[in-house]
Amino acid sequence: MSLIASALNRISPSPTLAMTSRVLELKQKGIDVIGLSAGEPDFPTPDFVKEAAIEAIRNNQTKYTNVDGTAELKAAIIGKFKRDNSLTYDASQITVNVGGKHTLFNALVATVEAGDEVIIPAPYWVSYPDIVQFAGGTPVFIKAGADKLYKITPDQVEAAITPKTKWLLLNSPSNPSGAAYTADELRAIAEVLRRHPHVWVMADDMYEHIVYDDFKFATIAEVAPDLYDRTLTVNGCSKAYSMTGWRIGFAGGPAPLIKAMAKLQSQSTSNPCSIAQAAAVAALNGPQDHLKERADAFQKRRDLVVSMLNQVNGMVCPRPEGAFYVYPDVSGLIGKSTPAGKKITNDAELIDYFLDDARVAAVHGAAFGLEPAFRVSYATSEAILTEACERIQTACAALR
Ligand code: PLP
Repeated sequence: MSLIASALNRISPSPTLAMTSRVLELKQKGIDVIGLSAGEPDFPTPDFVKEAAIEAIRNNQTKYTNVDGTAELKAAIIGKFKRDNSLTYDASQITVNVGGKHTLFNALVATVEAGDEVIIPAPYWVSYPDIVQFAGGTPVFIKAGADKLYKITPDQVEAAITPKTKWLLLNSPSNPSGAAYTADELRAIAEVLRRHPHVWVMADDMYEHIVYDDFKFATIAEVAPDLYDRTLTVNGCSKAYSMTGWRIGFAGGPAPLIKAMAKLQSQSTSNPCSIAQAAAVAALNGPQDHLKERADAFQKRRDLVVSMLNQVNGMVCPRPEGAFYVYPDVSGLIGKSTPAGKKITNDAELIDYFLDDARVAAVHGAAFGLEPAFRVSYATSEAILTEACERIQTACAALR
């Protein structure tokens, strides 16, 4: 009898975290490698948020809380959904979890059964298919490449829906492509869902506040209020407030679903860290102007990276609306050979070449379900990004 449960055979370790470990290993050996693989803002957590956490410790807010979030945090989240998304929830419709990944995990494990299908647009965030598979469900991928600016069409959604479809996952702005759907694009997808009342929608809005050039963020429950009763709107503090380590994710949705997620959480993690919850209250209720300032800084970096990568022969880098990633298509580089004579047959080999020869770490497209491409995280300084893109340019120019 095997010690390890067979459900574990259905998932693999996160490829993005694996690349981050490789970078750390090289750095520890003293090798000058530039890491463009991490999915977190380089800015610190705002000071007023840190102060709120220190205050919470002083006030002995250091004990168990309500399983799926304190009343204060749920109230702050209700306020956030109203302010930013014009969505109205009461406390029975709000769940707080140990990071956005945990929110998605709870929702999928609480609802997906063997045989259920979950539609996932590709390129996708690496954890979606694994969580669906862990839950016993079947991911159904619909692909949108660089030519479609990485956005799926309503027709593709229509074609993918079957009687077994449980969820459609929508992630806008997207990790890994940065692509974001306008309100009209979401309305067109909602039109399809209206014809299929058995399909639920999970909107992963983690990167809501990182959008550029006057792009107006929208979420599906807001633009299609008739879908409100079958939509889970997922968000969190990690990306907007540079709080990746604090582990606070949350969602608003129908009360029976929220209750099921709390039941699962009560037998796994119990409440998210009480101190992190107090910090999240401050983040959501406090001043929000730093969000725009940080988005402006990210926008400059996006422009720099898009422009430098598009100078590479064989690379096509669409200009995304948000998040802090770009996802260049590298079809034009596959089949070429390195100066050492090794043929590049796929994007994983290209990424290995970048790491070995250019000392730049990124993540290959196959990990996100759409190849050949790779993901660059530009959550680092303009000086480092310039150096990294120059290294990539030199490495690509040396391919024959
Ligand atoms: N959803 C997307 C699209 C993400 O990129 C991430 C983090 O990388 C998450 C959810 C999870 O965020 P958290 O760090 O809060 O678990």
